[in-house]
Amino acid sequence: MIQFHNVFLSYQSDAAALNDVSLKVPKGDFVFVTGPSGAGKSTLLKLVYGALSPSRGQVLVDGQNITRLTRTQIPLLRRTIGVVFQDFKLLPNRTVLENVAITLEVLGWSKRDIGKKVYHVLKQMGIEHKINATPLRLSGGEQQRVALARALVNEPKILLADEPTGNLDDENKEQILSIFREANIKGTTVVVATHDRRVIENSHRRVIVLDRGRVAEDTDVPK
Ligand code: ADP
Ligand code: ADP
Repeated sequence: MIQFHNVFLSYQSDAAALNDVSLKVPKGDFVFVTGPSGAGKSTLLKLVYGALSPSRGQVLVDGQNITRLTRTQIPLLRRTIGVVFQDFKLLPNRTVLENVAITLEVLGWSKRDIGKKVYHVLKQMGIEHKINATPLRLSGGEQQRVALARALVNEPKILLADEPTGNLDDENKEQILSIFREANIKGTTVVVATHDRRVIENSHRRVIVLDRGRVAEDTDVPK
């Protein structure tokens, strides 16, 4: 589903943020990407969703070479990828319904179908009673579940998460991780960048360790 072939990425003239990275994430996998701050985790995710283009090397996502995608093809690729961040990135002046609906509005769904689908997804996450609230009235754990609802509402092929549990307590971490597991069971390929050792150790999944832009370790832990 995701392939990196000898990928280099430099911001301006700085040292390479990614330095000869090669890896494969097969369809249906659930992997963690870890390593110290500045190791290149966010950069790696940005390459997968087409926010950056490699300085050298190839990035293939769902069989498509992202460097060869045109201006109109990039948004089409992004529709098949859900992304969540440590700071949730919800629209503060919109309701939960509106925040999650955005994904489906872009796809041209009718208002009625959007309402039903959003309610259904929020219910799966146990936050349907917050549908008309605005994000600032929600706890961190609730906000992350809304962000996950937005990312997952159109059943993406890939879910990318950048430090998704960084602002959450243990109970909320566990809830967010169980949503990742459910999405993965339904067929979504999941890539989580985190430096939270406990999250990684408890999950028994493949871990890719980055260090100063290089793959330092890649453990395929049996499930
Ligand atoms: P991580 O997510 O592991 O903390 P990043 O991918 O954010 O690492 O960053 C990798 C390296 O690239 C760091 O040295 C960081 O300072 C640098 N970097 C990240 N984004 C930019 C940017 N927009 N401009 C310049 N340097 C950047
Ligand atoms: P993360 O660890 O998740 O990458 P950061 O706080 O490092 O988060 O980065 C936040 C934003 O700042 C990102 O968009 C990243 O690209 C940008 N950034 C990070 N390092 C640099 C840098 N050295 N110069 C410019 N922008 C940077």
